[in-house]
Amino acid sequence: MRTPIVAANWKMHKTVREAVDYFRRLLELVPARPPVELVIVPPATLLWVAQKHLGGSVVGWGAQNAYPEPQGAFTGEVSVVQVADLGARYLICGHSERRHIFREDDELVGRKLRAALEGGLIPILCVGETLEERQAGRAWGVVEGQLAAALADLSPEDASRLVIAYEPVWAIGTGVPAQPQDAQEMAAHIRDWLKERFGRTGGRIRIQYGGSVKPENARDFLTLPDIDGALVGGASLDPDKFWAIAQAAAG
Ligand code: PEP
Repeated sequence: MRTPIVAANWKMHKTVREAVDYFRRLLELVPARPPVELVIVPPATLLWVAQKHLGGSVVGWGAQNAYPEPQGAFTGEVSVVQVADLGARYLICGHSERRHIFREDDELVGRKLRAALEGGLIPILCVGETLEERQAGRAWGVVEGQLAAALADLSPEDASRLVIAYEPVWAIGTGVPAQPQDAQEMAAHIRDWLKERFGRTGGRIRIQYGGSVKPENARDFLTLPDIDGALVGGASLDPDKFWAIAQAAAG
């Protein structure tokens, strides 16, 4: 049994005031025992606001990015240790915006993922192909390469804490999601790969779909057999929409 997990990636959005209003509204909507795991991933400037308003609630929170070294001369970065110290429980690793805009390679993504596990965080590892790669028939090859690089040498015990987000790059922030059958096909490939690599643990790792998920299309993805939740960008900025998507995951 895999508990669905729905995460809100706020990207570089919201001020303190807006975050406080959001958290208040979300906590009005969410029941005491929600049927899905809910995660808010605000920008680094709002992690303390999440700690203050979500701490002790049923809504978890995490960081969009963190540097793997625990401390040192890395101007502008915050470390995994620092975000864990604030109380974050999740870390997004390898989001396509970090891979493409900030040129993060597989090696750095793997280091961040390992640091997250060592720091007691749950890594949400993002994988996904570009449109050119899909059109060239290389979608699975690209995703497999990203999985193999990020998860090299990981023990099944560590792997049991992972979440994988399949996010086709061309569907992120475009308003055009993948076809549900294509998302299911990729999730099934990922599931088979995880089982082969980690044995029975692989069957328990949760796989999210991400890319233009909205309340209107959430059920199309969240009822698929190998998809256990969603990583949501744009639509997650509104607490009512985010909760509507989470309810679709509850089935
Ligand atoms: C994302 O940022 O991970 C994402 C899926 O964004 P959007 O929902 O806006 O496509």
